[in-house]
Amino acid sequence: MPITPPASMDDCVYFTNRTLGDSRIKAWVMREQCPKCKNGLMQKPRDPKTGKYKLRAKEYQCPSCKHQAPIEEYEGTLTMSILYTCPKCKKSGELQTPFKRKKAKMFDEEAGKNVTVDAVQFNCQSCQQKMFVTKKMR
Ligand SMILES: [Zn+2]
Ligand SMILES: [Zn+2]
Repeated sequence: MPITPPASMDDCVYFTNRTLGDSRIKAWVMREQCPKCKNGLMQKPRDPKTGKYKLRAKEYQCPSCKHQAPIEEYEGTLTMSILYTCPKCKKSGELQTPFKRKKAKMFDEEAGKNVTVDAVQFNCQSCQQKMFVTKKMR
């Protein structure tokens, strides 16, 4: 089944679209239903004063039943969808992988050295080139 990008970024917990040299990555994680009441979509709690999402919150909350889940635990149950063009073999592909970030060493072109980042890793399906979806580069 081909994976299609979401219609709206509001449906996503995470969305990124980036080009780095020859590599192109579009990745997103859809919001999912509350595991408890199956009613609401889990989201970051909103600030009652401003109505904005508290992006730094340490948990996700169901707007319907107020069920809470710690970020790390909850995000690990989600699925990241990725559309990519490989920098090595130039082929495009698509895949899905658990939304789990790991510490990874990658070469930072700007800094000109290897840096450690929190990233979701995946391999090119054609040539096994390792690629990263890092936390920062949005
Ligand atoms: Zn709920
Ligand atoms: Zn490749």
